[in-house]
Amino acid sequence: MAILRSSVVGPARPTVKAKTVYAEHMESIVLFGPPGAGKGTQAQRITESTGLPQVSTGDMLRAAVAAGTQTGMEAKKYMDAGQLVPDQVIIDLIKDRIQENDAVNGVMFDGFTRTIPQAEALANITTVSHVISIEVPDERIVERICGRYTCANCGAVYHDSFKPTAEEGKCDSCGGLEFKRRADDNADTVMSRLEAYHTQTSPLGEWYNSKGIFHVIDGDRAIDQITDDIIAALK
Ligand SMILES: [Zn+2]
Repeated sequence: MAILRSSVVGPARPTVKAKTVYAEHMESIVLFGPPGAGKGTQAQRITESTGLPQVSTGDMLRAAVAAGTQTGMEAKKYMDAGQLVPDQVIIDLIKDRIQENDAVNGVMFDGFTRTIPQAEALANITTVSHVISIEVPDERIVERICGRYTCANCGAVYHDSFKPTAEEGKCDSCGGLEFKRRADDNADTVMSRLEAYHTQTSPLGEWYNSKGIFHVIDGDRAIDQITDDIIAALK
């Protein structure tokens, strides 16, 4: 997310100095992973093992807009105008979120941070103790995503190589004969999404690595092995 210049978007927001309301022992986790790396599954398991709530900026934004909070209304202005929500608005949302009861021991950030300025801003409001980066070779991700298809009738999910229907062309669950593939699940689209991901996250990975808190996890293995490595890295 780019920082929009205040000259473009109107008067700058007043700067609010960080207060000492954040629990001193609070330590948060940042979770990285490209689309198709199995980040969602691992996020759920990290939450189960550590008790840290999962915080996604997308979910937070939608919740704040729906609740009509001051920051939510601010964010809505940008979203309605088709602009990226500025970092400061996201940081304000996070400040609110990490004061909730379930966040006393920290949170697990999913999909944030994406840039070094965001990481610096986050460091000013909470301690990030571990950054977990789930890495899977691009070709494997293309293979995983591009083979997916779903039953047009019941939505059951299949995969050409990993989980085909038992009987060709017939849904195992409902017997449906029609299937759908998402138009953006083709190799070119997936590759360009992955390229964008790498361009954006490599500098950030180096930045976190320089702080000694960056853990690369091989995501091209069984789900349980990946979880074990992540939990070990968090100790
Ligand atoms: Zn079906």
